[in-house]
Amino acid sequence: MEKIYDTIIIGGGPAGYSAALYCARNARSTLVIEKLSAGGQMATSPHIENYPGFDEAVDGFDLAEKMQHGAEHFGAETMYETVTKLELSGEIKTVETTGGILKSKTVLCAMGAYPRELGLKKEAQLRGKGIAYCATCDGMLFKNKDVIVVGGGNSAIADALYLSKICHHVYLVHRRDSLRASKVYEDQLKDSGIDIIWNSRVVDIKEDGIVRGAVLEDVHTNKLREIACDGIFVAVGRVADTALVKDQLTLDDHGYILADETTKTNLDGVFAIGDIRSKPLRQIVTAASDGATASKFVEEYLMRLK
Ligand SMILES: Cc1cc2nc3c(=O)[nH]c(=O)nc-3n(C[C@H](O)[C@H](O)[C@H](O)COP(=O)(O)OP(=O)(O)OC[C@H]3O[C@@H](n4cnc5c(N)ncnc54)[C@H](O)[C@@H]3O)c2cc1C
Repeated sequence: MEKIYDTIIIGGGPAGYSAALYCARNARSTLVIEKLSAGGQMATSPHIENYPGFDEAVDGFDLAEKMQHGAEHFGAETMYETVTKLELSGEIKTVETTGGILKSKTVLCAMGAYPRELGLKKEAQLRGKGIAYCATCDGMLFKNKDVIVVGGGNSAIADALYLSKICHHVYLVHRRDSLRASKVYEDQLKDSGIDIIWNSRVVDIKEDGIVRGAVLEDVHTNKLREIACDGIFVAVGRVADTALVKDQLTLDDHGYILADETTKTNLDGVFAIGDIRSKPLRQIVTAASDGATASKFVEEYLMRLK
């Protein structure tokens, strides 16, 4: 007879493996489907300082392995395939993968999000060597140093304000002549000491293996100028990985799956956890928290199905 899982979790980041740990400990048949390797975005950071329980920075890849092993220890399974199609309505959900078709009573969407890049030639190779996408995550690595924040929306301003308390000097580089931020943020900028460079975009990175500066272009005059800095924080938006579900689940205005603190979506038996969910803070600890919370409502739902 065809196996029907209690829970299939799409995505093996911290949200996915936290949910897997809790669901497996509830004695539910639990499968994590991951297209790359455990850890998601977390595994790309060698230096995590704000996940509780460690007195020194922890490597995201190591933390990912621990999360995966922890969940598998209690019986969760991992399948390394890509989920290609989902049928989420009805009591039994269908999950199509590159390795075959699976069935489950509940589905947890944990596909995460990714930061939008500037698209510069050296950007990828300098990631973690001065190019950063998360001020809350990496700000402390630039203590008393000079940094550039690129962007003009709420996240960019919030990042610049946060960094201005840690770094020696902060430049905010924006390609327009006005910000797209809430008034409350704009007011805070006034006395922050942040240098705003208007009508400019970063066109090149100065480096010698690590970031040393940025080349800016005035978008009106095309004039180039160079700014010395130790870090460039890219805050030009994040993209939620919702291509699979956007026709079935309700998304918020920014493209994240709409689900409140219960992690329940608009469809019964379907939950959204971690960075893919509409929420105020996207971090490892909040992703892990979502996974734990979801397990409570998965359990309630499965009990009701009987
Ligand atoms: C460079 C960097 C540094 C960071 N540093 C920190 C930090 O220091 N502290 C902190 O708290 N946070 C940090 N973050 C943020 C943190 O990593 C994320 O908030 C967290 O990983 C979100 O977890 P998640 O499980 O929701 O999603 P993700 O980590 O994005 O994982 C999603 C997973 O789903 C998989 N997936 C997607 N689509 C499919 C599919 N169709 N089929 C199968 N699998 C799929 C992906 O391969 C991925 O593994 C950092 C992020 C980045 C990018």
